[in-house]
Amino acid sequence: MRLVIVGNGPGGVELARRLAGKFDVTIVEKENLPHYSKPMLSHYIAGFIPEERLFPHSIDWYVEKGINLLLGTEAKLIDRFRKVLVTEEGEIPYDILVVATGARAREPPIKGKEHILTLRTLGDAKLIKERLEEEGEITILGGGFIALELAGNLAKAGYAVRVIHRGETLLGLDEETSGIIREKLEETGVKFHLGTGILSADEKGLSTDKGYIRGKLKVCAFGILPNRELAMKSGIHAGRGILVDEHLRTSAKDVYAIGDCAEVGGIIGGTAKAAVEQAKVLSKILEGCEERYDPSFRSAFFKFADFSVAIIGKTKGHGEWIDGNTKVFYDGDKLTGAAVLGDLRKAMRLEKSIKEGLSLDRS
Ligand code: FAD
Repeated sequence: MRLVIVGNGPGGVELARRLAGKFDVTIVEKENLPHYSKPMLSHYIAGFIPEERLFPHSIDWYVEKGINLLLGTEAKLIDRFRKVLVTEEGEIPYDILVVATGARAREPPIKGKEHILTLRTLGDAKLIKERLEEEGEITILGGGFIALELAGNLAKAGYAVRVIHRGETLLGLDEETSGIIREKLEETGVKFHLGTGILSADEKGLSTDKGYIRGKLKVCAFGILPNRELAMKSGIHAGRGILVDEHLRTSAKDVYAIGDCAEVGGIIGGTAKAAVEQAKVLSKILEGCEERYDPSFRSAFFKFADFSVAIIGKTKGHGEWIDGNTKVFYDGDKLTGAAVLGDLRKAMRLEKSIKEGLSLDRS
């Protein structure tokens, strides 16, 4: 069976790793690099790790696993009727095709956006690193995990870091939990401008609804746009992302989608953890097991400078602290979510309890 995967991100690589040897696996990737870690890009920009450390697998790893890796090859169209993937380099026949094209960074829809960089690829990271070393300071737009990882690491490395965020809280959390994370990052040296909307940008800074903020190097880190174009051009249904059901099937026969490009139950995963989880579920489905992906449960673990944060399940509604660093959220007596700050030792256990819908006394 020929399995062709478009995209060499964590979703595509995890699927290939699990099915290598069982399927005849080909990965088609438009970048000319083996898989690299996006979560480590801010560590690289900060100068904490060399470029080589971003690559968990060498080219030899793919060869040893028997994975046919086609780098520098952009997929242009899925010909669903002939079951071939059309690329710049020619056609590749498939029995099963998996779209794992990920997402790109959202750009701010404002005048002067050409003065603002985005961060998604190693190329973006190299450009930011070079500019940062010249300027010594950076303005980061956004209050999500990518913005905070970048802010934390760059402040820890001694750069002057400003974060501008339209919302009043970080990571979509409640005021109290967000406040703790903000304070930890402020201790590292990050300056926050919350509740601040940006109006336009120029070379020297940003106009905001709270006044002009100076800073030549500006990086937008708020949100992603799923890469759904390949699927749409091929007549496959898409909403915000490529629409898939709980079996990760698209509207086309034998074509699946996973990771940041896929929309499951109205939700875009948006994390490497979700992409890997979907790859795991899909590998079982393709091996013939009865498996489903449940999009309603999400969790993610992050590190902002030296401060770890786990966000598990639903973190909205009624919450209470069960100890100094864990706030749990309920629906009736059922645990629905938790935010764990600092010490994450109990986060894995809580994740399991919340996933299984246990009540507090059983967790
Ligand atoms: P991607 O990693 O986006 O990979 C998709 C691949 O498909 C790309 O290599 C792309 O070049 C290729 N591609 C696209 N279109 C085509 C085409 N037509 N033909 C061929 N190839 C194509 N997640 C976490 O869980 N924890 C974190 O701490 C974390 N930190 C992050 C920090 C940063 C700076 C960034 C940018 C992201 C971070 N993420 C984190 C998010 C995580 O990296 C993504 O959710 C994850 O990479 C998604 O994996 P994916 O396989 O779906 O797609």
